Amino acid sequence: MPTGQKDPARVIPSTTHMNDKGGLSLDDPLQYLKGVGPQAATVLGKIGLRTVADLLRHIPRRWEDRTNFRRVADVRGGEMVTVRGVVIAASTKYPRPRLQITEALLDDGGCALKLVWFNQPYMERTFKGLAATRRPVVVYGLARRAGWGVEIQNPEWEELGEDGDTLSSNRIVPVYPATEGVRQGRLRRMVDAVLRAYLPLIEETLPPDVIRQHRLVGAREAVRNIHFPDSLEALEAARRRLVFEEFFVLQTLLAMRRKAHSREAQGIRFQVSLERLQEDLQQIVPFTLTNAQQRAIAEIAADLSSGHAMNRLLQGDVGSGKTMVALAAMLMAVENGYQAAMMAPTEILAQQHAIVLRRLLEPLGLAVELSLGSQTVKEKAGVRERLLGGQSRLVVGTHALIQEGVEFARLGLIIIDEQHRFGVLQRQALRKKGERPHVLVMTATPIPRTLTLTLYGDLDVSLLDELPPGRKPITTHWKPQDKHAQVYAGAQRLLEEGRQLYIVCPLVEESEKLQAKSATQLCEHIANEVFPQYRVGLLHGQMRSDEKEAAMARFKAGDLHVLVATTVIEVGIDVPNACVIVIEDADRFGLAQLHQLRGRVGRGEYASYCILVADPKTEDGRARLEVMTATQDGFKIAEEDLRLRGPGEFYGTRQSGMPELIVADIVRDMDILTETRETAFRLVESDPTLSRSEHQPLRRALQRTEMGVELISVS
Ligand code: ADP
Ligand code: MG
Repeated sequence: MPTGQKDPARVIPSTTHMNDKGGLSLDDPLQYLKGVGPQAATVLGKIGLRTVADLLRHIPRRWEDRTNFRRVADVRGGEMVTVRGVVIAASTKYPRPRLQITEALLDDGGCALKLVWFNQPYMERTFKGLAATRRPVVVYGLARRAGWGVEIQNPEWEELGEDGDTLSSNRIVPVYPATEGVRQGRLRRMVDAVLRAYLPLIEETLPPDVIRQHRLVGAREAVRNIHFPDSLEALEAARRRLVFEEFFVLQTLLAMRRKAHSREAQGIRFQVSLERLQEDLQQIVPFTLTNAQQRAIAEIAADLSSGHAMNRLLQGDVGSGKTMVALAAMLMAVENGYQAAMMAPTEILAQQHAIVLRRLLEPLGLAVELSLGSQTVKEKAGVRERLLGGQSRLVVGTHALIQEGVEFARLGLIIIDEQHRFGVLQRQALRKKGERPHVLVMTATPIPRTLTLTLYGDLDVSLLDELPPGRKPITTHWKPQDKHAQVYAGAQRLLEEGRQLYIVCPLVEESEKLQAKSATQLCEHIANEVFPQYRVGLLHGQMRSDEKEAAMARFKAGDLHVLVATTVIEVGIDVPNACVIVIEDADRFGLAQLHQLRGRVGRGEYASYCILVADPKTEDGRARLEVMTATQDGFKIAEEDLRLRGPGEFYGTRQSGMPELIVADIVRDMDILTETRETAFRLVESDPTLSRSEHQPLRRALQRTEMGVELISVS
């Protein structure tokens, strides 16, 4: 697992927590509840549901109005419908090899609806069984007109419980995300039981006047109605309230963070002459800076000389040249007699930065320290001594930089590369190594505008919206597994022209060890059977740091022609002569990751290629590959990613230490977001430390988020 991807939000209780009442607590494990039991608890645990609070926050995927079923006779094609009926027949046809079509007929008391499955012959048995019992069944899906009538392919379906099962019939019924091993009806009974016993424990987090002004329903009513609404209006009101609460907590945190920064805003005033800086840069940088780079440097210079602490996000797609902007900022710090530290998420990336910075800065007589976790005790001691003594003014490192014992004589600037890989606390820890240092965070993760507002509402933003000149577009192809020979033949032509090649091996999620093993095997295969005439190297996370460094250095120097690697090369790695990247089992990577990996090529003057090898097994996997072949624009990809994964899963939100958004959808609920923003900022303006009594529940809710812990202990 890449660094920084631990999920702090998970260990923190929900925003709807509170005290014990009658021995009950929302933290009670589900395991001991009546109607759950150890077996179901294990299944639920797998999808992250361990406590009562977790179950209450398990929001239905959709709701079905079972007071009013559609009559098959009235159904037109192209709509999502819920139909109730009894199964009257089921059979399977075998029209050609490897195609099995199972069909069942559902009678709604007047008309028949055809249900169709492909290559799922076991459905025949299931539905024959249902036909025998004649118990009512509810089906849901996209209705299509088909010849004689209406059909639904691959419907969702559910057997209705006994007559007395009031949770699943004659009402608006919650349908939860599918859970292997726990049926909908069972889950509904558990939620219902939990609501009965625990609802009174839910605390109202929102201040009373906010509730009044925005006409929100109360916390308990909202939680009950999000699961078992009495009406569609009640459902809508419940949802609106829960969305509001999530955004409100988030925006209050942002408002407090903005306040905290402005309180310490007195920053070190640097003297900066942009002209001199430009001259210096011209001397040492082997190319002309792009307009976007120059603009970002000027914005940083203005911040640094303003007397306020800089807090700036530098956002630029892969390959846009962020490192040079960082270098310019570091020069400004050094010229003012301060130290600058740059933190990167991986050792390989830190090493690469050190190499680049050393090459450019050593001619000016500036040494660059490197600080890594894998260094020997003696090396570390040396680095520490020179940073504390002030002899070294520039340092690049990994998390090692924020270890205890690393201290600076005069830290004036910190730069965080690929900042989405770090948590709030890590960034904060580096900040604390200095006395209100200037902060520049850099990211290649293109963030859709909607998210910028939610996540970085308190940062200034510089955008590198221009790539260095001469870049050729990257051609992306998607090839099935059985076309490997063709893929390698294409790569070979480019190797013959002197270019280099990355091969990214399939993602193994189980463990780093297995991942390393699979990389090693692929490397042997490539070296012995595919490209025996070329030098093939290996790079994975389990190698020793000096081995990694050596492999990277050899590849960079052109001594290796092919590098077989895991996602350790995902961020930042820069070898302009490498112009082909083959990604194996590409459908298993996320979009952001694929975009980053593709960004390893197309960094020089050569036409570049990204080959995605995959036979996707899911719709989403296929959709990701289609997005990748359709566009190279990081922002478009980010928006697609947001759409495919949903905002809750969107990268950047979890790592940033923000509370998770469970109900709220940043895209769909944009107007509620804006509404909460104003209200929250006004509230923090009037009660900056949230000390008023009516703000105590909110304060407690904030303290249960990672960011809140930081902010509230500060104030
Ligand atoms: P990022 O970190 O934004 O992905 P890098 O800073 O690694 O990008 O830069 C990518 C490549 O582009 C590097 O090889 C760098 O030397 C080169 N580069 C940066 N700026 C320019 C420029 N203005 N003109 C030409 N090449 C540049
Ligand atoms: Mg970079």
